[in-house]
Amino acid sequence: METVTDGVYLISRGSNAYIVDGDDGVVLVDTGLPKRHGLIIEGLSDIGRSTKDVRAILITHAHFDHFGGAAALRSASDAAVYASHVDAMVIRGDKPAEPPPVLERLPFITSLMTIMPQAASLAVDHIVAEGFDQELPEDFTAIDTPGHTEGHLSYLLNRRGGILFVGDAANNANGSIKRGWFNRSTDTIEGSIHHLASFEFETAVFGHSGPLRSGASAAFCRY
Ligand SMILES: [Zn+2]
Repeated sequence: METVTDGVYLISRGSNAYIVDGDDGVVLVDTGLPKRHGLIIEGLSDIGRSTKDVRAILITHAHFDHFGGAAALRSASDAAVYASHVDAMVIRGDKPAEPPPVLERLPFITSLMTIMPQAASLAVDHIVAEGFDQELPEDFTAIDTPGHTEGHLSYLLNRRGGILFVGDAANNANGSIKRGWFNRSTDTIEGSIHHLASFEFETAVFGHSGPLRSGASAAFCRY
């Protein structure tokens, strides 16, 4: 586990999950791959917390490598789960995850996807969207960043000059902001990255790359 900044910890194993420690308990942003939630439980224990302290799980998007541990962690705690309306349908198991068009064009890979690990479905307690996020814990706000999935959300925490939880809306490539892989719509993701650049935040953390610890919103403006 790596400390990003004041009370924010990164757990990285195939996909990034974040522990956010606060006065009223712990918030998780994404939960990593299926069957890897033990790493999050270990991380909580390292900071003197347990699953009972987790009061909220914020999901950026409905890909198995981001909500993989959510069902187990939700049932081991009293945490409320937050996601967007569209991605909640996939998380609840009411709708299959839509593969990105690049994979739809490759029948071999599409059939491979059917044997990829699946995340256990779970209830979503709160539907959030940009401007409709008053229920979020701590001082989090939601930012609509569609393109990677249709209902992808990024979350901005008002702490230490702003900490943006980007999810898979973008990657950090040695300090430069790049588009990630496997997007539903390239045009839409471009718009989402420009939209993120309109916010102020010192730090940005990502779904698959390392943190940008300073000047992060300026890096998004250079995209
Ligand atoms: Zn993803």
